[in-house]
Parts: sequence; C-alpha cells; structure tokens
Amino acid sequence: MYFILELEFISPQGYIASLIKSYAKYSKVDVEIFQENGKILVSIRDNQNIDEFLKGLEKILPASIFLKSAKHYLSETKPDIKEFQTPRVPNSIALCPNCQKEMFDINSPRYYYPFTSCSSCGGGNIFLEKYPFKRENSSIRYIKPCPNCEDELKSNPFRENYPLISCLNCAIPVKMSDKKGNIDMQMIKRVLRGYLRLQQRLYMIKKRWL
Ligand SMILES: [Zn+2]
Ligand SMILES: [Zn+2]
Repeated sequence: MYFILELEFISPQGYIASLIKSYAKYSKVDVEIFQENGKILVSIRDNQNIDEFLKGLEKILPASIFLKSAKHYLSETKPDIKEFQTPRVPNSIALCPNCQKEMFDINSPRYYYPFTSCSSCGGGNIFLEKYPFKRENSSIRYIKPCPNCEDELKSNPFRENYPLISCLNCAIPVKMSDKKGNIDMQMIKRVLRGYLRLQQRLYMIKKRWL
C-alpha cells in the first residue's frame, strides 16, 4: 500500500519537488516523486514513519504563491507517470527555510553569509556564465570549496553535487562599508530591518495560503 501526498503546484519549475526529494533522502525515507499537470505527487510505502516525515516536510516547504492545496490518500499502486528527476539548472528564487535557518544559526559556517543557497533555492543564475550548470562554467570557478563544503557535496542531500557550494570559510569575502571603507552600522541595520520585514511578509503569505 502507498501513502500518496498530492500537492497542487501551478508551476512547471522543479524546485519544490527537488527540495522534497532532498528532504526524503536526508530523513532516510524511501519516496518516489512525480510532477505533472500542476501537481506534485509524493508516494511513500506505508511501512515507514510517515507522520514524522510529514511534520518535517511542513517545516522545510517554502512560502510559494504557486503552492496551493494539499490532500492525501492511500493507493494500492504508485502513480503511473515518469518519476521526477532534479533538473540541472540554477534556480532564481528566494532562500528555502533550510538555508534561512543556516544563515541565522551562529554555529553555522553560513551565519549571515549572503551567498547561501542549495540545490533547491538561491539566485544561481547570476553566477552561471554558460551551460551546462557546472562550477567551472560559473564566476566562482576560481574559489576552491573548503573541506567542509567538499564533504557536504557528498553527504548533504540538500547540496549533493551542488555546483555553487560555498561558505564563510571558503568563498566570496563580503563586508559592508561606506565610501571611505568604514563599517557603516546604520546601513547594516537598514538592510537587516528590510530583510526581517520581508521574512515577516513571507510568513503571513504562507499562513494565509498553506
Ligand atoms: Zn536552500
Ligand atoms: Zn566552504
């Protein structure tokens, strides 16, 4: 018997299905994912811990105006459509909740790191110079991933083989300063206030639609 979670997703983009796929691998839950005709179907064999999987899934799904209703049902067979394959293209979207969590975690190597992203989120388009989507075809090809990032490429399902992986230890150094090179605390506060307001708005949208 299969537990089928059906999400209405009115976009042909693959980032939500890709995020669910990574999360399933991270949770060690065996799922199959399908996306067709405005729907994402997640098929889970019912001998697994589905409750815990769904609780975690709720936390990692981003607020999206394309994500509409959700329903679930049991089925003797899994959906008869081609299984979803993660597309090898950069995203051009806001950060997923997982990456946001890393950015606000003082113990994370991506604490306030502005280029935080993963296989299912981020503005990767601006870094890519030509296809195929590989690090050597991007503007950060000169930056070698640190040992921690190298390890993530193999062990973190959210960044498995992710071409633009980077963190504070290995990547693009950034500081915010005025024209004379002095750190401008007022500017930093303004940017942070704007960011927090945006998060608050996204939260309200998610609350209203999901
Ligand atoms: Zn992400
Ligand atoms: Zn790194």
